[in-house]
Amino acid sequence: MADLDHRQQRIIEATEKLEADILDFAGRLVAEPSTLGDEASALQVMETELKQLGFETEKVAIDLRFLADHPGFAPVPWGYENRYNVVGYRPADLEGGRSLVLNGHLDVVNPGCLDFWQDDPFHPVIKDGWLYGRGAGDMKSGIAAMIYAVQAVKVAGFGMQAPVTVQGVIEEECSGNGALACLHAGYDAEATLIPEPFGPTILTHQVGVLWFKVTVRGASRHVLSASSGINAIEICFPIIAALRSLETELNDGPRPEAYKQFDHPLNLNIGLFSGGSWPSSVPDEAAFHGRLSYFPDVRFNEIRQKIIQTIKRASENNRWLSQNPPEIEFYGFRSDGHAVARSLPAFETLNDCHRMLTGTNAESYIATCTTDLRAFQLFGRGQATCYGPVAENIHGANERVHIPSVMQVAKTYALFLSRWCGLVE
Ligand SMILES: [Zn+2]
Repeated sequence: MADLDHRQQRIIEATEKLEADILDFAGRLVAEPSTLGDEASALQVMETELKQLGFETEKVAIDLRFLADHPGFAPVPWGYENRYNVVGYRPADLEGGRSLVLNGHLDVVNPGCLDFWQDDPFHPVIKDGWLYGRGAGDMKSGIAAMIYAVQAVKVAGFGMQAPVTVQGVIEEECSGNGALACLHAGYDAEATLIPEPFGPTILTHQVGVLWFKVTVRGASRHVLSASSGINAIEICFPIIAALRSLETELNDGPRPEAYKQFDHPLNLNIGLFSGGSWPSSVPDEAAFHGRLSYFPDVRFNEIRQKIIQTIKRASENNRWLSQNPPEIEFYGFRSDGHAVARSLPAFETLNDCHRMLTGTNAESYIATCTTDLRAFQLFGRGQATCYGPVAENIHGANERVHIPSVMQVAKTYALFLSRWCGLVE
């Protein structure tokens, strides 16, 4: 850390002294099971923390009156009553610097089968330098680190020459509508950092992601005459097989240079399946929900058409489905990808901060998933990237985040605040 001047030394020391607060706050967020629709208590914890740290706070609603026509809005079948994002704002103490948004999502995915977890997923546990729990990595520790990076600058005795906004959003895991609402409410900046748990890297590319739902009808019978019925569950299998072929076709087709290093960058996932009501009745309805990704130079409508055509072709080869075509809905993610140059000024500053702490350049990260960067990159002022802690088993059992990496994120962000926003003595 030879490159640090004495002001930056003070900021790093202040950050290190906040480690217990960062872990305590991260743990309190993990203890709130903020799955889809149940985010209120985690938002409350964050809002209270922001107020205590001296931020001005605002609840930012996802208001369909303003957002429904936004090109980035994703229609969803659920509502937004009493669901919101929380924003903390620190105005500039002096002019002259560049503004910054620090964004993180408070929603988490379901813990899945509890048998696979060593501990209660919503009971944070620290073991051997790791914090365990659903959301520990994705991405409540990152949120704690980013908020306390702002606090570290203050504790070190500095003001800032530009406004800083910290955002805790919902629906990163399903639509991206939360971050979009913050952007639409005017909370954008000259740079945006998101501490997603991809490690201390600089994200330059992410794929597009869409969700869809396919519903099929069968013909119900008692199993004694099953051969005269149509099993709605089993008739899904050839449709899924056709979609799997589309996935292969997309991976085998032309791809951007950045994605040539991957064996299989684009992934189809059938993540939800339902149907039937009784082991001895031929099911008359089944539905499955899927997620498919696509390269950054492709748009949502193109892939949507490909999915519709693929299912149509599969249905034409089946006597029942050709007469009873599946219903296809597109809800949730319709998030196009993006690709940006590593040479953006915000990325260079971030890399400088990383190098000051580690002695090496930060690697670039090419993402095969989507993040809330989409809102800022496609509809905002850009210069948005992810740099976050090291986590394991995100979306799986025994999710955990490496505590030293959380502290590294806090320190890097604190240095970034000093360099990008500018300090006031
Ligand atoms: Zn995440």
